[in-house]
Amino acid sequence: MAEFELIQDYFSGLSQPDSQVVLGVGDDCALLQPPAGKRLAMTMDTLIAGRHFLSDEHPSGIGYKSLAVNLSDLAAMGAQPAWALLSISFPQIDHSWLEAFVSGFVTLMREQGVQLVGGDTCQGALSITWQLTGFIEPGQEMRRSAARPGDAIYVTGTLGDAALALEMKRAGQDPGELEQRLTRPVPRVEEGRRLGAAGVRSCIDISDGLVADLGHICKQSGCAARVHLNRLPVSPWVRQYLQEGGDFRPVVAGGDDYELCFTASPDSVAHLQDMPVTRIGEILPGEGVELLDGSGNALPLPPAWEHFAS
Ligand code: ADP
Ligand code: MG
Repeated sequence: MAEFELIQDYFSGLSQPDSQVVLGVGDDCALLQPPAGKRLAMTMDTLIAGRHFLSDEHPSGIGYKSLAVNLSDLAAMGAQPAWALLSISFPQIDHSWLEAFVSGFVTLMREQGVQLVGGDTCQGALSITWQLTGFIEPGQEMRRSAARPGDAIYVTGTLGDAALALEMKRAGQDPGELEQRLTRPVPRVEEGRRLGAAGVRSCIDISDGLVADLGHICKQSGCAARVHLNRLPVSPWVRQYLQEGGDFRPVVAGGDDYELCFTASPDSVAHLQDMPVTRIGEILPGEGVELLDGSGNALPLPPAWEHFAS
């Protein structure tokens, strides 16, 4: 089968011409019309088989997660997702793999209003690159560099679920419902947009663990963060794991949760009561992230939880 037919069959029907997508898949370039007055937020991530996922992982899971992690970056900026480019290489044409791969991301893509407007397809080692573009109202973006002493620190959702699920799988246990948190993270797109519109100026998505990612905010903002371990939001599964004496490191240093961590004056988030956000600490003058236990003693900072480093 020629590359042309492959693109036609799998990737060409995933955009609708509209006032913004003047021309989608099929020509030398896509032609796009950004809405007047909006800024474009752009992000790209590559996932390589054997490095970011296992080659024998289910292709629909690879399709889902590869798109979800890119959407999470747009969410962390406060952008509204709009357009995607997909570059994919695979060693040989495998129709059932490709079908499952596309079915893995297509629902998420539609839910988030993303149009696949182009890409590249070639033969080689299995690897997937998404480039996403979103729209943002000038001034509503949330930068890593905008945290200020006096801000409170918040996270969405719960922490440690993905890391615990991975840990259980590696130990040969069935993570049950928790597995979804690892394989099908839900990017916090709506939350990100609402936070940006509410005046939150500093945010990051938690892909490498709270301590590491909050550390990026501190470094780029030139300030310090103090986090209270007993305020960290956890799911019933993680709560039980901790009560049974489990290590707290997956909660503070486990990756793959794709929740948002943001800093703001408490006033600016006071009216967002219907959002799943928890206040976990405060931004201070200085540098680095400090973690305190329930008695106010500093806990040793885990390095990126090494189980999850590879
Ligand atoms: P060219 O050689 O001019 O780059 P290609 O044959 O690579 O053209 O691509 C033809 C069209 O198909 C282009 O519009 C391109 O954006 C699109 N395309 C190729 N691969 C993909 C893909 N994986 N997903 C979406 N669109 C794709
Ligand atoms: Mg090409």
